[in-house]
Amino acid sequence: MTRSDPDHPDPSTVTPSRSLCGLDQHELIAWLDEHRYPAYRAEQLRRWIFHRGAGSVQEMTDLPQELRRELAVDFQLFKSRIVAHQVASDRTVKLLLALEDEKHVECVLMRETRRRTVCISTQVGCAMGCVFCASGLHGLDRNLSSPEILEQILRLQHCLTAGERLTNIVVMGIGEPLANLPALLQALEPVHAQDGLGLSPRRVTISTIGLPKGIRELAAVGRPYNLAVSLHAPNNELRNTLVPVNQEIGLDPILDAADDYFASTGRRVTYEYVLLAETNDRSRHARQLAALLADRNAHVNLIPLNNVDVLPWSCPGEPETRRFVEILETAGVVTTVRKRKGADIDAACGQLRLHNLEGRIGE
Ligand code: SAH
Repeated sequence: MTRSDPDHPDPSTVTPSRSLCGLDQHELIAWLDEHRYPAYRAEQLRRWIFHRGAGSVQEMTDLPQELRRELAVDFQLFKSRIVAHQVASDRTVKLLLALEDEKHVECVLMRETRRRTVCISTQVGCAMGCVFCASGLHGLDRNLSSPEILEQILRLQHCLTAGERLTNIVVMGIGEPLANLPALLQALEPVHAQDGLGLSPRRVTISTIGLPKGIRELAAVGRPYNLAVSLHAPNNELRNTLVPVNQEIGLDPILDAADDYFASTGRRVTYEYVLLAETNDRSRHARQLAALLADRNAHVNLIPLNNVDVLPWSCPGEPETRRFVEILETAGVVTTVRKRKGADIDAACGQLRLHNLEGRIGE
């Protein structure tokens, strides 16, 4: 065998193509069996991956040397590489990860008194085209695989300090999760598994632009995930301009699917609404939104706009935001205003990746 023989590569010179953290329990046991190792090694491996924060197979020191060597021939623990690691003054962490094909995605760890929440991406880019969002400016590149989604969670878990525990996951990063639902659900399996992260679906929120078919597919999974629908406008005319994909969908089918989601899961749906000054923040918009949601068991989360420097939108002032909240609350709609996190880093959705695409990381 020569080093240049592509059919018989020397294992020491080849980067293994499979992600170890992406294997489920059965696949791990099958691999171990094939290599004549007992099944209990799978438990040890999963403990290293999900609880003991191993960064590589070599760190799994209670596994036999030979097993570690054989694992390293076939797998990499993580296939992504951290390209940028930003920490804000409120200790929000944002990672830019390079994938195998050098595409980039980002993920965020947010810290509150009692919560440690990670925000993950599901696609490289996004096809939805929301006019105020950095993620979709260059369209959709590709879906993430399930290991690529899971790796974001594990990478951020490594950023926690001793005594901190991951408590929540929000699927609110780059991409439209319901357009890549099978990979997302597969990535969440070890998140829920007792020998994985052991996190309940109640602690996971999936945010969607509102794809009715996807919402129904998610309901059919039968797990009590929280659903957040990015509404951003109380009527089709305005929503068509802010969320172009609405032209093919329309508000009614989205609200119907969300009502059915609540009926079948018992989880109250959140409606997200990014306030854009003088665009969707007027009293009449608040009244219309209240009329739409007052009879639904819904919750409105108003999101302060993160500035995307190449886009023209701006955040309304404090009085306009307060007036908007008051109108909703007077109509009996539970409303919260999202806290800003990581304001001094590239916190807006897709912003870090955008800066990297534009060659501005490291400036
Ligand atoms: N595609 C999904 C999930 C990703 S975006 C969705 O649309 O819900 C997560 C949330 O961030 C959405 O509500 C989205 O509209 C919002 N968002 C996008 N760009 C933003 C910006 N510049 N400032 C504030 N929120 C933004």
